[in-house]
Amino acid sequence: MGAPDPNIDLNDDQLLRYSRHILLPELGIDGQQKLLAAHVLVIGAGGLGSPVSLYLAASGVGRITLCDHDKVDLTNLQRQIVHHTDSIGAQKVASAQRTLARINPEVKVVALAERMQGPRLDEVVSQADIVVDATDNFATRHAINRACVRFHKPLVSGAGVRFDGQVAVFDLRRKDSPCYSCLFPEDSDAEEMRCAVMGVFAPLVGIIGSIQAAEALKLIMGVGEPLQGRLLLLDALTMQTRTVRLSRDPACRVCGV
Ligand SMILES: [Zn+2]
Repeated sequence: MGAPDPNIDLNDDQLLRYSRHILLPELGIDGQQKLLAAHVLVIGAGGLGSPVSLYLAASGVGRITLCDHDKVDLTNLQRQIVHHTDSIGAQKVASAQRTLARINPEVKVVALAERMQGPRLDEVVSQADIVVDATDNFATRHAINRACVRFHKPLVSGAGVRFDGQVAVFDLRRKDSPCYSCLFPEDSDAEEMRCAVMGVFAPLVGIIGSIQAAEALKLIMGVGEPLQGRLLLLDALTMQTRTVRLSRDPACRVCGV
């Protein structure tokens, strides 16, 4: 990331494909070049990973690494909009890769059908510019957070279950940034609510995942003000949002000294 690669000159097709981005003065050709040069890691190809990967691919993020060990199931299709009925039984990452290629064949999508943990997780996190956590359980979220703290990667975290969603950005390139564990310490008895068993309102994950995509794009291009150190909470039943400012916990076991 950083300075746009001067080798990435937009051709005529790209100038048309991305024209509605280029028309935005905050983005322009410079911003689009940064997207084309970027590498985003998306962990989870489910309800959140669907809109995240769809918008990143459509927007022209040059390289997307998508990880998920699961297969497409009939119960996924109500909300996991990157998958289609004819993909039932297929690996989620392969199914998503097919959909993304139809939207934007220019984007390189690396599909990793594996459960990301340990040294493999470190490896994929260290290679990415931005990490999007689109998983649905605390153990994986904490493992992703630890890797992002270790390699100083910006982490875009999202969650959604029932009608309740939340998004936060932890830009761990910054020394003053809180991490996911400052917010939810690993040993806390926060209630694990997985949409696999709890039920989830379909557009909720669409809204939260779209916000995650927006934050990832903003971080890549350095535009606007990211949700850095802020937690956005959405109640989709009343359609009310709340934003809570987060501070770094000096006693945090992950990012504290
Ligand atoms: Zn922390």
